[in-house]
Amino acid sequence: MEIIVLMGPPGAGKGTVSESITAQGKFKHISTGDLFREAVTSGSEIGKEIAGYMESGSLVPDNVTIKLIENIFDSSNKEAKFMLDGFPRTIGQAEMLENALKERNGIISHVFFLNTKKDVLIQRLTGRRICKDCKAIYHTLFSPSKVDGICDVCGGELYQREDDCLETIENRLNVYNKKTASLVDFYKSKGSFVEVDVNKKPAEICDEINNILKEN
Ligand code: AMP
Repeated sequence: MEIIVLMGPPGAGKGTVSESITAQGKFKHISTGDLFREAVTSGSEIGKEIAGYMESGSLVPDNVTIKLIENIFDSSNKEAKFMLDGFPRTIGQAEMLENALKERNGIISHVFFLNTKKDVLIQRLTGRRICKDCKAIYHTLFSPSKVDGICDVCGGELYQREDDCLETIENRLNVYNKKTASLVDFYKSKGSFVEVDVNKKPAEICDEINNILKEN
């Protein structure tokens, strides 16, 4: 099992980059945020448990989160390759991931770190719109859909995430600084850490990452 990790604060572009990398067909996309949103929408027991955390922009507890990841690993074949988007988000999760991979003969081949300034993150998050059906990502200013509110790819309806409002964004960025930012040093010390300059066009960022992945 091979894993690549995409990390960075909310709004750094992890979702957009994931779309491009997984479109190459080599890596399967695991976004814990998407999985949690699906669980909340389904109204399942776990969905009810995590809805409050997500609405306020706090983190879902580590033990719930790692279970989700382990279930996916265990229902996939041993040669599977995954791109983790939005996980791990705490040192505890990173350590649990290391153990889970050790038990399954898996490795983390790369950690890509996407980062930019707070005002840019806020601007990106407040303008973000997502297709309800195919999950394509748009921005009201930087990459609007051709027809307002309608997805260019599949014609689905675009929506704004509830947690993309200013108050919750502030909390999500604080949570990132308190709990997730220290993962940069954690992964730097392990090697295979790549800091990606995200102040470029999305296509250029994706090419940079895809080229690194092709070399290996
Ligand atoms: P995202 O779509 O990655 O921005 O995640 C949306 C929300 O889901 C976060 O604000 C958290 O409430 C929750 N979440 C996603 N991933 C994790 C994680 N790895 N650990 C804990 N909570 C998470």
